Amino acid sequence: MRRFNGARDLFNGSVNDRENEMCKSTVDTSTMQCQCDKDKPPVDSLVIPFLSLAEVERLALLAEECGEVIQAVGKILRHGYESRHPDGGPTNRELLERECGDVLAALDLLAAGQYAGKDIDSGRIQAARQVKHSKIGRYLHHQG
Ligand SMILES: [Mg+2]
Repeated sequence: MRRFNGARDLFNGSVNDRENEMCKSTVDTSTMQCQCDKDKPPVDSLVIPFLSLAEVERLALLAEECGEVIQAVGKILRHGYESRHPDGGPTNRELLERECGDVLAALDLLAAGQYAGKDIDSGRIQAARQVKHSKIGRYLHHQG
């Protein structure tokens, strides 16, 4: 089976939009292999060049969870920590806590466990965290 070779295939014309369309419509989701032509490259290499579906999925999860943190912060800024949806449910504080945990879990997927060092490096994350701690005070006006 021919493997997709990233930019080389895109630039030399061996992969085109029509191929992509056909594969996407008949893909075996368990293998991400095109079912209309087994010799075609797996769809996971064609969705976004240089990223596998697994990498895209981990990044999408992180983006989604960061968005949910932003949403929770927005609710707190508008309605306060103890407010909650009129129909009930968790407080905005609890929502923010939950979403911060979701972000940490998404980061774990990118930087720890079986993917450690594959997507992003946890050591560099921690180093950046320390740098931020050392600099942030001078830009804060109300933190004592
Ligand atoms: Mg979430």
